[in-house]
Amino acid sequence: MKEIILIKVGEIALKGLNRRNFEDVLIKNIKHRIHDLGKFNISVAQSTIYIEPVSEDIDLDDVCERVSQVFGIVAFSRALVCEKSMDDILAQAGDYLYDDLMGAKTFKVESKRSDKKFPLKSPEISATVGGKLLEQYPHLKVDVKNPEITVTVEVRDFGAYVRCKTLRGQGGIPVGTGGNAAILISGGIDSPVAAYMMAKRGIRLTAIHFASPPYTSERAHLKVEKLLKIVSRYSGSMNMYTVPFTKIQEAIKDKCPEELFTIIMRRLMMQISEIVAKNNDCTALITGESLGQVASQTIHAMACTDTATDMLVFRPLIGMDKEEIIKISRKIGTFETSIEPYEDCCTVFTPKHPRTRPVLKFVVQAEEEAKLSEMIEEAVNNVKLTVINP
Ligand code: ATP
Ligand code: MG
Repeated sequence: MKEIILIKVGEIALKGLNRRNFEDVLIKNIKHRIHDLGKFNISVAQSTIYIEPVSEDIDLDDVCERVSQVFGIVAFSRALVCEKSMDDILAQAGDYLYDDLMGAKTFKVESKRSDKKFPLKSPEISATVGGKLLEQYPHLKVDVKNPEITVTVEVRDFGAYVRCKTLRGQGGIPVGTGGNAAILISGGIDSPVAAYMMAKRGIRLTAIHFASPPYTSERAHLKVEKLLKIVSRYSGSMNMYTVPFTKIQEAIKDKCPEELFTIIMRRLMMQISEIVAKNNDCTALITGESLGQVASQTIHAMACTDTATDMLVFRPLIGMDKEEIIKISRKIGTFETSIEPYEDCCTVFTPKHPRTRPVLKFVVQAEEEAKLSEMIEEAVNNVKLTVINP
């Protein structure tokens, strides 16, 4: 029996004139995501993308899992491929649907006929297939109003397809149709979720990570790489830039008032990220900040952080509770890695009593006295690139 995957394109169908471009990007992303699983023919017709396995030993479960992670797909299903004849449909459908039909008491058949040359009309196809299935599975009853399962028969241009279960896709918009942005990534719970959420809106990601060896370890860096690897299952491959932050953090510690350490560090992160982001063709920065979560995320502290850069900053978690963030983190598979106990540069030199209402004038004054802006160029020039693949 020959099986394929049928994908209904979701939100992208609403994009009118851009639709072709969106479909092209989506198909490219799907190809990229499944290419190591075998050879496939991928085509599009009538708002449906067809993934047809070409090589023999392809496990469609693996393909389905990958497809479920690609943004731009609302729903998809596995389907049996038949010749465009009732004989072939009737000969194969019953066996193909064995597991589903044995597990149900009621069913109905729905048919769609986009090839109007097919000799039977849709209701006739449904009645004929339904009759045959009742014969084969005498325990079944037809229930057109509230069936446990719905068998769908579609007669299209290139073949007939029989399917039953619809699987949920990731939704969103294909990555690469929404421009580029840089995610400030830590090893925590929040920033990987923020990365996922913006990629879901079609953004292609670049990652920026600040490391302060020897205060932060190689293990901590590997943890961030591992998190990005998980994010890249959804967002696609990305470049990660690691910024050497030790000298700047030491200068902050030596020369600035303790209660301003965190806010000054965050402002420096934003300034450096802006340069790295622009060098990589990004239009915006993304952070995992959530209002009120910690001292550096009060409305006053964030207003102060925000003036450090003119760049557009996306904070997709800003109005979310930790519980809601954790729920997404579990769903996308980053949570277990995020809670591994490694240090982050934000957790070295943390002040005992951080200012929750920093006054910008004094913050800028402290930065100037410490001559921090002179250290930015060196940090930017020494970023290290790691390529992240799923
Ligand atoms: P997270 O769970 O993402 O670490 P958090 O709640 O711990 O967030 P902070 O540590 O204050 O909050 O960091 C706020 C945001 O700053 C993070 O979500 C992330 O976007 C960015 N950030 C923090 N540490 C780093 C780092 N070492 N490198 C790059 N960005 C960072
Ligand atoms: Mg953190």
